[in-house]
Amino acid sequence: MGRITVSITPQHADSTECTHRVKPSGRPRDPESGCTNRTQYQVACSEHGDVGDPHHVKALAEPAAAAHREEHRAALIPR
Ligand SMILES: [Zn+2]
Ligand SMILES: [Zn+2]
Repeated sequence: MGRITVSITPQHADSTECTHRVKPSGRPRDPESGCTNRTQYQVACSEHGDVGDPHHVKALAEPAAAAHREEHRAALIPR
């Protein structure tokens, strides 16, 4: 079994990944970047794919990601 990674991906409202530089408000720093505003954060696991629904603030996505990592840690303890 490979190493499992749990990541948080910032997304636009249409669930496409936001790789733009944004202000703390979620609005793009560069109006010319084509960014449609960063509105949600999706927790994704390399084994399970998307974990739950997207979160609208990063402060909620981080504990969700940590909780999922913890589930794996508990499941992977060698006997
Ligand atoms: Zn963007
Ligand atoms: Zn997982």
